[in-house]
Order: sequence, then structure tokens, then C-alpha cells
Amino acid sequence: MFLICFDAGLRCCADPIAIAEATMNDMSSTPIRKIVHVDMDAFYASVEQRDNPDLRGKPIAVGGSAARGVVAAASYEARAYGVHSAMPSVTAKRKCPNLIFVPPRFDVYKAVSKQIHEIFAEYTPLIEPLSLDEAYLDVTENLKGMDIATEIALEIRAKIKAVTGLNASAGISYNKFLAKMASDLNKPNGQAVIRPKDGPAFVEALPVKKFHGVGPATAERMRKYGIETGLDMKEKTLEFLVEHFGKSGPYFYGIARGIDERQVKPDRIRKSVGAEDTFVEDIADLDHAIAELKPLTEKVWRYCEAQGISAKTVTVKIKYSDFTQATRSRTRSLAFVGIPEVLAAASDLLAAVYPFKRPVRLLGITLSTLATSEINNARPQSQLDLGL
Ligand SMILES: [Mg+2]
Repeated sequence: MFLICFDAGLRCCADPIAIAEATMNDMSSTPIRKIVHVDMDAFYASVEQRDNPDLRGKPIAVGGSAARGVVAAASYEARAYGVHSAMPSVTAKRKCPNLIFVPPRFDVYKAVSKQIHEIFAEYTPLIEPLSLDEAYLDVTENLKGMDIATEIALEIRAKIKAVTGLNASAGISYNKFLAKMASDLNKPNGQAVIRPKDGPAFVEALPVKKFHGVGPATAERMRKYGIETGLDMKEKTLEFLVEHFGKSGPYFYGIARGIDERQVKPDRIRKSVGAEDTFVEDIADLDHAIAELKPLTEKVWRYCEAQGISAKTVTVKIKYSDFTQATRSRTRSLAFVGIPEVLAAASDLLAAVYPFKRPVRLLGITLSTLATSEINNARPQSQLDLGL
């Protein structure tokens, strides 16, 4: 069990078409922003190689080597063999027989993450973490009074190296989507900038399967509609994208044009927090399955507690031995106040699908409708000069 995931949470709105059109029309009056996306290189694996010289220069995978283990992170030496994160450990071992499995040490990764965050905070309070090793920074107006965002990115990466001994890559652009795409361009230990004049052409040439926010299933659906590149997407109408991709339609419509108005939300309002576990052996028995919910609930709840948040919705995910899956949710009018409440609700949800149609391979718990404080993300609307 090692996955804590946060939904990215794309813009949601009551009337997506109206709001998307309003956003597009507004573009002329919007100041050009300077967004930096910082992404640590092979983060967990690099931390392990940093702390254990025996692992340096070797193909390593952070994660369990057990029959059902999954690779959480792979070193660049392992990636050369085709090993990547989320790959079953068995497959990884087959691709790279010399692969060294290292158990994760999340307390260490969190401590490094905090160090990195402190470096970011020297530059801007507008920091939106995507995970322990990635964050968006809005440096349009920054605490150092620096004009050139690429220089800020260089400084931040140098400080990260000095303080943690680890390499980071960065992407610099005028919105989150392009900054995120840019950070991949010169990885590892590099950075890239996408300027406003180059944004639309960059997206047009980009395969949609590489878009942040397009998973494999969505990419496959897009392919069926003839959408394989940003240009293909740009040729679809907003109505078409909304009809086929719902609330994500306006987001796709915008990014196909290099437009992404999402703000960098400091300590962003998380949509959900979850944990899941794949079992060594499939579970057929209800009591056994309920017992497995406990550590998951504890893990998610501890995280919520540390962040000072609670939730009104609990969702249980059940993946069966044939890889089909089901989810069951319950939403309360008042937020959960402790582990026993969450566990009781989750156990009820699980009991409702018992007898299981097949033995259970994986269980997950997600808490959502999180209650956090509102963050004021307003900024002065002055026109700022470019200097990405
Ligand atoms: Mg990374």
C-alpha cells in the first residue's frame, strides 16, 4: 500500500460552454502570467540512490518486489530497460533481471518535499503541489522582484540541488498546462520555456496521449473520434468536446488553443484523498475484506488530520480478480469526525456488494468533498511585461 493520490480537479462549472466562451473572450484583458512547473527527477528512486551509495548507477525500483507489487518509481538506469512507475513488479523484473527493489520510505520523501517547498516559498506564496515532488509556482509577481521566470527556475533548481543533493527539472510558460508539458522537454536536470507566441503551435503538434489530464482511456476514446494531436482537437467544436468529454470539454477546447486559465491555487482545495492496496492473494471473505479497509482508512484519515481537513463522502473501490471494478459511495450532510465513522461507512458499502461476484484483488478508500478553508487567489490585474 503506497498510493495516495489527489485528483487534479479540472475546472467544473454549471454551464461549461457559456463559461468557456466567456473565458476565451476575456483573454485580451488577462495579464500574461509566468508559471513555473518544477518536477523532481525520478524522485523516490533518486532519494534512495542519494542515501545509499551502493544503489548509485544501478537500475532500482522503489516498490514491492512481491508477486503483486507495483513499481512506484524507477531510476533512470532502470528506465533504460523499459521499467516505469505503475508497472507490475513482475513485469519490471522480466524487463530488467538485475533490477533492485527498494522499499519506499515516505517519511524521508515527505521531509525532502518540505525542503523543496521551503525553497519555492522564498520566491512566491502561490505554490500548488501536485504531489510530493511536483508543484506549480506562479511567479508573475514574486518575492525577489525578478522579471525573468527562466532565471527563477534556474535558481530554484540550483538551490534544490544544493540543499537536497537532488536534480529537478522545470517548465516555464504562461499557463499551467504548458508549464507542465515544458518540464518534460529537457528532463532530466533541465528546463524549457514555451513562450506565448509558440504555445498554440506546440499544442497542435503534441499527441493528445501526452496531454496532462488525458489518461489512456480518454486517449483511446479520442483516437476513435480521430483526435490524435492537439490540432485534431482544435478542429472539434466546443459543443462536440462537451458532448463527448463532459466537464473536461471546455478544458480541452482551451488547451487545444494553448489557453489554460486555471489559477495556481496555493494549498489547493483538494478534491479527494485516497489510498488503495493490491493483495498478495485475492480475498473472497467479507470479514477479511473489511479488515483490509482498516489500514487504508487509517492512512487516509491520518493524512486528512495532518492537513486539517475532513470529508463528507467516502468511496470504496473494489477491483475483482478479473480486473473489473466497482465503486460505492456514501455522502453525509456532516463531515466525518474520526476513523471509526469512516470505517463503519466503508464497511457498509463493502457489505452491500457481498457476496462478491469474484474474489477481490484490490480495495481502495477515497475521502472527498473535503472541507478546507477558502483561499483568496486574487491578484492585481495590472498588465505585466513578458520576460518568461
Ligand atoms: Mg517527478
